Amino acid sequence: RPVVSARDIVKRYGGVTALNGVSLDVEEGEIFGIIGPNGAGKSTLFDILCGITVPTSGSIRIMGSEISGMPPHLIARSGVARTFQRTAVFAESTVLENLLFGRHASFHHGVLGRIVGSKSYVRDQQAFQARVEEVLALIGLDGERHRKAGVLAYGVQRRLAVGIALMSDPKIMFLDEPAAGMNGRETADFIALIRAIAPGRTILIVEHDMAVIRQLCGRALVVVDGKPVVVDAPHHVLSHP
Ligand code: ADP
Ligand code: ADP
Repeated sequence: RPVVSARDIVKRYGGVTALNGVSLDVEEGEIFGIIGPNGAGKSTLFDILCGITVPTSGSIRIMGSEISGMPPHLIARSGVARTFQRTAVFAESTVLENLLFGRHASFHHGVLGRIVGSKSYVRDQQAFQARVEEVLALIGLDGERHRKAGVLAYGVQRRLAVGIALMSDPKIMFLDEPAAGMNGRETADFIALIRAIAPGRTILIVEHDMAVIRQLCGRALVVVDGKPVVVDAPHHVLSHP
């Protein structure tokens, strides 16, 4: 059963049709690529799949539940995390503080209604500390925790953005051009990071770097002018006329 399932997604902005009938099924555990030229509708598709944008028509199921009309924080709570095309780290905050924002985005809803100082508060604090250490190790920023995010190399900031998303231990991750602007070494590290976090997750990646798509994705969807063109293994897709 697919964990992400979209049917006939159409999105219009006034006279602009950003998506014109996109359907896709992503199976549990897949690393699924989405490629296509600038303006093809890839970011819009991600926004719709995680509830940030409401489609003009069409339906989306995440883990079997229809998400149309569901607010993004409820979708996030069901185990979905998203990173953005432009790196969304807080430059003036430390690595640790940035991960804390991930906590706020993720642990937040379990916390509302609880009394600070209660046992569950302490348990959550401990779980949070443990998660911080796990994520710092995964993203390789263990030694950089007190550095301001803004002073880190761009490729490292992008790893941090993935780390923020990882704080909630999401089952489904949407990564929007995660390797953009990375140098060769950073890209190789990034591929290793995604391989390390992939078990137990379903990952969708929009990416312009075809080497990343080839090395990570089992299947890729090509979107052109808001329409799906082909879904297949990357080596087939990339040789498609
Ligand atoms: P991609 O991510 O593939 O580069 P986008 O999803 O960003 O493509 O954009 C698809 C199309 O929709 C483009 O023509 C873009 O200009 C348009 N578009 C995206 N967002 C908006 C918006 N908020 N308002 C108007 N047009 C938009
Ligand atoms: P709001 O956005 O409504 O201000 P916060 O996310 O800041 O909500 O959290 C509300 C309260 O819960 C704050 O006092 C905060 O310190 C506390 N809190 C937030 N996350 C946790 C957590 N994981 N464990 C314990 N307390 C938390």
